Amino acid sequence: MRDHKVRSGDVELAVRERGEGRRPTVLLVHGYPDTGAVWDEVAGLLAERYRVLTYDVRGAGASTAPADPGDYAIPALVGDLAAVLDAVGGDAPVHLVGHDWGSVQCWAAVTDGPDGRPLRGRIASFTSISGPDWRHVAAWARRETLGLHDDSADAEADRVRVRARRAGRVLGQARRSVYMPVFAAPKAGEMLARVVAATFARGLKHAEGGEPRPGHPAPTLAGDARNGLGLYRANLRRLPDGDATALVPVQVIVPTRDRYALPDALLSARGHADPLYVRRIPAGHWVARTHPDRVAHWITEFVDHLEGGPDTPDLVRARAAGRPGGEYAGRLVVVTGAGSGIGRATARAFAAEGASVVVADIDEGAAKRVADEITGSVDGGPSWGAAHPYGVDVADAEAMERFADHVTETFGVPDVVVNNAGIGVAGPLLETGEADWARIRAVNLDGVYRGCRLFGTRMVARGEGGHLVNVASMAAYAPGAQVAAYSATKAAVLRFSECLRLELADEGVGVSAICPGVIDTGIMHRTRYVGLSGAAADEMRDGLAKVFARRGYPPERVAQAILRAVRANRPLVPVAPEAHLALALDRYAPPVNRAVGRMIRRAGERYRGALPE
Ligand code: NAD
Repeated sequence: MRDHKVRSGDVELAVRERGEGRRPTVLLVHGYPDTGAVWDEVAGLLAERYRVLTYDVRGAGASTAPADPGDYAIPALVGDLAAVLDAVGGDAPVHLVGHDWGSVQCWAAVTDGPDGRPLRGRIASFTSISGPDWRHVAAWARRETLGLHDDSADAEADRVRVRARRAGRVLGQARRSVYMPVFAAPKAGEMLARVVAATFARGLKHAEGGEPRPGHPAPTLAGDARNGLGLYRANLRRLPDGDATALVPVQVIVPTRDRYALPDALLSARGHADPLYVRRIPAGHWVARTHPDRVAHWITEFVDHLEGGPDTPDLVRARAAGRPGGEYAGRLVVVTGAGSGIGRATARAFAAEGASVVVADIDEGAAKRVADEITGSVDGGPSWGAAHPYGVDVADAEAMERFADHVTETFGVPDVVVNNAGIGVAGPLLETGEADWARIRAVNLDGVYRGCRLFGTRMVARGEGGHLVNVASMAAYAPGAQVAAYSATKAAVLRFSECLRLELADEGVGVSAICPGVIDTGIMHRTRYVGLSGAAADEMRDGLAKVFARRGYPPERVAQAILRAVRANRPLVPVAPEAHLALALDRYAPPVNRAVGRMIRRAGERYRGALPE
């Protein structure tokens, strides 16, 4: 470890150098109210492969503050970066990494505005953590609030909902940024800076799980927080201008639990950098402190590749996630029972949002047809935006193990798994034999357990979060005669999902239970009717199928509810009015819920009485 002093105008910057001199250089720039020491863990890991530079920005740590307390504008910060490169950067272009304000100034250095010009040709790549370019954010906010995105493929009703959702996210980001004008305001800024300094260590520990350690928070924190107000005061009024297109490959690390920046704001870089690599992690703003291994791994994989190393499947996926496109671009989604009905609609909906989808079904032919439909209708590169069919019986434990291995080895760990495969058994429980009971349990409950365990384990091991969606039914909470076996499996799936959700919350893996009402799919044709045979069973099948068809609630609406459940990490999502009503009755008026069950039973008896023997 070697320490240097570098002069930039009237400030002196404290620079620390680690690692061997002839290796590629990685330069890490910190944010507010940190010092270069925030990078200690990441820098230590990177120094095993690279020459690593960190420095305290002007006014922080061991660097001096400018004589003019207003001299914190982006051009001055980029000038400091240039001075560090001149003094100790070496001959080859360096790989920049920036966090928070460090990232904001790096964006200026790697885009072709007037501020970045002194660094043209001297940067090889840029990894941005929780510090978006403000021009990108402004363009994103304009697009989302003014409805400038392409929604021509959406139905009119959806369009209104989608626009409201997009505008809501901009408001959400604005809400997270309210502290900024306070920092910029005279007096109020000083007061807030004192609060930040006094509470920083506690906040880091309790909100993010980051243990304070020597160097971070820095012993100079109180002064750093006060000096750093200059960042807000000099730059909130004068945003960087010029072309916002990055001149180098960019990697954006998105901590999905950042309290200050929403993922959408961080992803506003899409369309402004090519190539753009996107990585997601369920972590907070100080991800470099809480997950240094993961951050160092992503920087290493990215830098190694740009220095001539291999293009790994993870990089291919990260690049796909960086392309403009749907919300699920670059993400892998597995759907079971995707050959028909709700599963098919769900696979198509995720693919339409840019995901690569594994279409799994016991009926391999149906899975293939759906995968072909999707690939035929989705634009995208040959390796992404595609659908991959797979034949598997979710009731077969070994086949499911092979399936999970195959998916992981071929495409990587899925981001979303929809355990949708299910069957119906209807008829009196007293006539439901062991075989029917065992089969419906094996498919509807054990299949969900397996999908969750096999893929959940992989999601947790990967450490980048994920989402498990389990398709239950309103039958989980609406008692009905003739469906005891089916309802039992669905009630179990619902409670199973609620428990698992608690278990996986800290791992960043969400769990949602979906409870559709009466949906117009082929399920009634596939349902087994115990206690009836021959013509009576056929007639019952046709009669119920007609009821479902007349209800006319399309599976596509369930698919949209599933996407919303993942987006908002909802625990329980009833779909269709009858499912909402039954849930309300179950919660607030259980006797009425049972009375409805009795009414339906009497209607069923009248219908069965009319059936042929
Ligand atoms: P569907 O019959 O149209 O589709 C189910 C798909 O699952 C079929 O393609 C089938 O081949 C596949 N499948 C069946 N057993 C499988 C197995 N062992 N392994 C893998 N795949 C298997 O039915 P749907 O209505 O789309 O049902 C999907 C899910 O939604 C089911 O879990 C069902 O219980 C649930 N659900 C449906 C409704 C409804 O009204 N249709 C209501 C509530 C819940």
